[in-house]
Amino acid sequence: MRKKLVVGNWKMHLNTSQASLLLHRLHERIKIYRNIEVVLAPTMLVLQPLSLQIDRRKFRLAAQNAYSKDEGAFTGEVSFTQLRELAHYAIIGHSERRIYFHEDLDMIRDKVTAAVRNDITPILCVGETKAEHRAGETKQVLHDQITSAVSNLTAREVAEMVIAYEPVWAISTFQGDLAKVSQIQPMFDFIRNQISELYGKRTADKVRVLYGGSVDENTARGYMDLQGCDGVLVGGASINYHKFSEIVKAAHRSQTAVEDKDNG
Ligand code: PEP
Repeated sequence: MRKKLVVGNWKMHLNTSQASLLLHRLHERIKIYRNIEVVLAPTMLVLQPLSLQIDRRKFRLAAQNAYSKDEGAFTGEVSFTQLRELAHYAIIGHSERRIYFHEDLDMIRDKVTAAVRNDITPILCVGETKAEHRAGETKQVLHDQITSAVSNLTAREVAEMVIAYEPVWAISTFQGDLAKVSQIQPMFDFIRNQISELYGKRTADKVRVLYGGSVDENTARGYMDLQGCDGVLVGGASINYHKFSEIVKAAHRSQTAVEDKDNG
């Protein structure tokens, strides 16, 4: 059964005890939904303690970043190999990494490759900046980001991964505007077409595509009901347990509506 995915990116917020408290509250509020997968991406330091506290029937963990080499003299870095036991997913190519830390296409490709090599599922973030959007370059940007990031992967590996479409101009960090639902559908279609051209339709049908950009409890359902939307990546609203649990509920309702329709 296809599940909707709700990913909470806690960014560089919350120390260990704050994160533990938030997890405790989410435990209380979020039910186990058979058609929803909830993924929490805390700061690196907090992954280990949270992994001991987490109810794995409800949540999975994601790293927000890691380094592409498995081991060695790379001071300050953490490898995907070291994260193997802790994180099921890793966010790769987030716009904050691309913009603030100058991660380029090659670095992101190497990280995606390293994640897959270490059995960690990449959540690859792609999306155009406001200037690129205004210049009508969105499709070219998505094409380049996707083609390059998956270039070392097999069709089967691509089918397992997650791609999050996050227009930079809609992300709260960059004082984002709210994207209209009608603006997102063509981009979802473009992303799947892109994967189809590279790896065939079966792979394109399987790859999970998320939306991210100032999603909150009021807007989540609209994005999630889009054709081919497998869920949402939530930043700011994910550290508010009320908002995040409402987003999870919206995902559950959206997925249940799809299932009801499929079952006639
Ligand atoms: C994000 O961090 O990927 C994100 C989409 O943030 P926000 O929801 O705050 O815009």
